[in-house]
Amino acid sequence: MTLFLLIFAFSPLPSPIAGGPVETPPAVLNAVRYRPDQDSLRIVLELSSPAVFAESYLHNPDRVYIDLDHTSVASPIAPIEIGDGVIKQVRTGQHDKETVRIVIELNSAVDYKVFPLTSPDRLVVDISKKTPASQRPDSPVTRTIVIDPGHGGKDPGAIGRHDLMEKEIVLDVGLRLRGLIKERLGAHVIMTREEDIFIPLEERTAIANAKDADLFISIHANSSRRKEAKGVETYLLGRATDKDAMDAALRENSAPRNKSSDDLQFILTDLLTTAKKEESLRLAHYVQANIIEKLEPRYKSVDHGVKQAPFYVLVNAKMPSILAEISFISNPEEERLLAEGGYRQVIAEAIFEGIKKYVQSTSMLAQPGEAANTPIRR
Ligand SMILES: [Zn+2]
Repeated sequence: MTLFLLIFAFSPLPSPIAGGPVETPPAVLNAVRYRPDQDSLRIVLELSSPAVFAESYLHNPDRVYIDLDHTSVASPIAPIEIGDGVIKQVRTGQHDKETVRIVIELNSAVDYKVFPLTSPDRLVVDISKKTPASQRPDSPVTRTIVIDPGHGGKDPGAIGRHDLMEKEIVLDVGLRLRGLIKERLGAHVIMTREEDIFIPLEERTAIANAKDADLFISIHANSSRRKEAKGVETYLLGRATDKDAMDAALRENSAPRNKSSDDLQFILTDLLTTAKKEESLRLAHYVQANIIEKLEPRYKSVDHGVKQAPFYVLVNAKMPSILAEISFISNPEEERLLAEGGYRQVIAEAIFEGIKKYVQSTSMLAQPGEAANTPIRR
């Protein structure tokens, strides 16, 4: 299992200025220790205090990067030569004034995880020498994932009190998510839009159906007349579970479209028999749980859970499909967070992690054609 982004900050956060970075106390990296055994290598970074870190995995050649934010090295740290056939070398250095970078050079792909420990503060990197889950023959193969950033062009979506537009936020999160899926899952990604253009709602799933996509992920930001409303919810198509869910669907359905509302009503009467409902539900649960888990350590969020509502954009999807409302743009605090690239990255990572867990937990995608050929009863 791989943890892609983990942030730890134990002190209460100061009120950040819109768009500005959150200040954390500077940490010092005192030493790098390592302990090899037969199946794994543990690398321990000894710190003076907790540090915010980001990790990434790159291929060709395979390597793991870990950046410690607001951190400096106590004194230069010599490269550690491992040379065990899987791990080549661990290099540590001051990448820039505020960042210490650790690069773990590999001979082949690995599973790894990064996690903090306290008393004393340290960051642990565990690298498995066994064949990664993604390369085992029984591992499901993901083919195509459609990412649908909501709204665009003449349809701005919801607009925050400080004029932040939903269409811009969700496009950015969608593009970040595309990068993560391509890089880490090796799946083909299709964007319903990758710039600020208008796409009618019914064309979005039509794109996914035409490409025989395996999953459809629509990304939106929530809005409410109640300024204090905040948090995250993930939807699948169905009869509205509560009034807030119905309000969300009505708002998202208000984008200009070609079909008449009579058509919509007709479709909605038969929602409960929609194909792929169970799979959509599972996918929604993974995504919702991962967003909440990733936001929890650092941001106060509210878990509204998985809900159902008649979202027009999901109506014709022939594959498991969900719509994530990633935060409330109408809540001043969450509007300020949505304006921060770091927050959008955490959300993209969380959606990715949810998708990955869904893919790993299902064999559906290992059966080419099955998803696309299942008829929707109408
Ligand atoms: Zn929306």
